[in-house]
Amino acid sequence: MDPDAARADLEDERARLAAPPDPGSDASDLEEVEAELADVERALQRLDDGTYGVCEACGEPIDDERLAAHPATRACGAPASGC
Ligand SMILES: [Zn+2]
Repeated sequence: MDPDAARADLEDERARLAAPPDPGSDASDLEEVEAELADVERALQRLDDGTYGVCEACGEPIDDERLAAHPATRACGAPASGC
C-alpha cells in the first residue's frame, strides 16, 4: 500500500466522519462514528510512525486489498493467526 494513497484515503474518511451528523442519527450511531474516527486518527498516527500496514495483534503485514477496502484497519484478519 502506497503510504501517500493511504494517507489521502484516511484524510477523506476523517473529513466524512467529522462532518455534522444527520439529524436522524441516534446516540449509538454517534458512538460508532467516534470509534471509526479514532481508528482513522490512529492509522494516520501510524503512517507518521512508519508502522502503518502492520497488524497490531501479530505484527505481520496487512494484506493490501484489506487496507484498500478499510484503510483504518488495525489487524490483518488472517484466519490462521486469529487476528
Ligand atoms: Zn495479525
